[in-house]
Amino acid sequence: MSINDPLSLYIHIPFCVTRCSYCDFTTFAGKLELVPEYIEALKLEIEMNSDLLCLQNPVHSIYFGGGTPSLIRIEDLESILHTIRSNFQVQADAEITLEMNPGDANKNYVQELHHIGINRISLGMQSSNPDELEIMGRRHSLEQTFEAVRLLKESGLENFSVDLIYGFPTQTMQSWQNSIHSAISLNPAHISLYALSIEEGTLLQKRIFEGKLQPIDEDISADMYDYAEELLRNSGFIHYEIANWAKDSKLQSRHNMQYWLTQPYLGFGTGAHGNIDHVRTVNVSTIDEYLESMKLAQKNRLVFPASREIISQTEMMEMQDFVMLRFRMLQTGVDPANFKHRFGIELDDVFHYEIERLLHKNLIEVTSDRRLRLKNETVLVANQVFMEFVSV
Ligand code: SF4
Repeated sequence: MSINDPLSLYIHIPFCVTRCSYCDFTTFAGKLELVPEYIEALKLEIEMNSDLLCLQNPVHSIYFGGGTPSLIRIEDLESILHTIRSNFQVQADAEITLEMNPGDANKNYVQELHHIGINRISLGMQSSNPDELEIMGRRHSLEQTFEAVRLLKESGLENFSVDLIYGFPTQTMQSWQNSIHSAISLNPAHISLYALSIEEGTLLQKRIFEGKLQPIDEDISADMYDYAEELLRNSGFIHYEIANWAKDSKLQSRHNMQYWLTQPYLGFGTGAHGNIDHVRTVNVSTIDEYLESMKLAQKNRLVFPASREIISQTEMMEMQDFVMLRFRMLQTGVDPANFKHRFGIELDDVFHYEIERLLHKNLIEVTSDRRLRLKNETVLVANQVFMEFVSV
């Protein structure tokens, strides 16, 4: 990593009021009393890593994800940002995103978010249908999403994204169409569409197992994606990544691009991941373990004090990640010149057989400027492409 490479920072907030039925993220419901201690631990982790890694790189994105970051008081978010600014070189125009539950928006909170420097909001809309929101276990209504968006616009936070989930049990093509039309009517800068994945140990999995809910047929789910893809294209959105659309290229998520472009990032808080200087880190996943790790770190200062895994990356691992993640970027794909610039070797010398196989199977195409990218019709089976680069 060169000193000029921009850096991204991820801050994990592992608190939720209740757990949504489909969710297996690193988050905990009913532990809000631990927030003050957690915030202090987060600030210590930020300070310690900055101090010991001695990074001079400019920070061009900060992302508060969760969990539900919008449960955190303005004073606490401000003090985390202050700690970051005191310890890293944050660019004046850095993208600073906060994930928000629409039910948490009120005029004062939204104005204050803007005031402390948050300049992008990711809003968990998920559906416009009240019954679906109920089965998902979301604690907000469609009306609250509309109100949240009104407040964001009023306070000048026009750069917001909305998330929707498709392929959810009980969802119909009609209800999905209503959801995607509602989302577009909010005039967001960005939309993310997530295919439901039924995860082990979730309430949703239990209900399906008990026969109370039926999973949606994969073909219907694929039709939902196709419908949304066409509608978003006709509504002027650029489909720049498998699950992400932006109103224009400047409104693509700078933070998420950092991951897909395999650029360096640090993660703070429970379960947070980092990838810097050929090292990947994964933090401990429970709040108790995290608080304990940070208590120990006070006595014994360590780099990556809350990490449960610190994995050195071989060059081959980095080359595989580079290719897999860039295939996610639907417009730009994999640029062989870029690969050569990064690794000093031709893409074809490393992955000749994999690329030939994918071309032969008609899963990828070569563009007129010799980049490789997924074909439109293979976006939903992109895993078949990624798998080629896992098994090298
Ligand atoms: S709000 Fe998000 S993180 Fe929290 S339980 Fe629901 S899906 Fe999971």
